[in-house]
Amino acid sequence: MRYSDALGLAITCRTQVREVRVSKTRCSIQGGCTSIDSLDGSLYRCEYDKCDKAWKFDALIKLSLLVEYSVDPSLPSSSTPGATLRQHEMLHVSDFTAACKSMNSRIKTGGFASASACQAAQADFWNKVRNDLAAARARSHKNRDRH
Ligand SMILES: [Zn+2]
Repeated sequence: MRYSDALGLAITCRTQVREVRVSKTRCSIQGGCTSIDSLDGSLYRCEYDKCDKAWKFDALIKLSLLVEYSVDPSLPSSSTPGATLRQHEMLHVSDFTAACKSMNSRIKTGGFASASACQAAQADFWNKVRNDLAAARARSHKNRDRH
């Protein structure tokens, strides 16, 4: 089920990636680490949609990802055969990006019966986004990293 409206996607996601060399990454894993640097954005006010006969809101998510390397990123990845460490980290980046871009299908932003129901959903919006991204991160780790 999708919650998009006729005017376009209710949730828009913009991602940004920063790559840095460090002596120690945020992750316990050696070599490379992809994590969320910052998460912010905007919620637009609840509006009544005459077509849907329901309340809805639009949202903009700005997700900044940080990719850290404690070794040369052109070294072979120990988790992804045939790939460099950098190529491996970019798989994590694409997992985060895909999760953010498909958020619209998992977080309800429309179809509310009242303005107050719409506002209640807004109050919980960033929690839902954070939980969704945490789940995406766990899946990415499980799928991409050797244990
Ligand atoms: Zn990894």
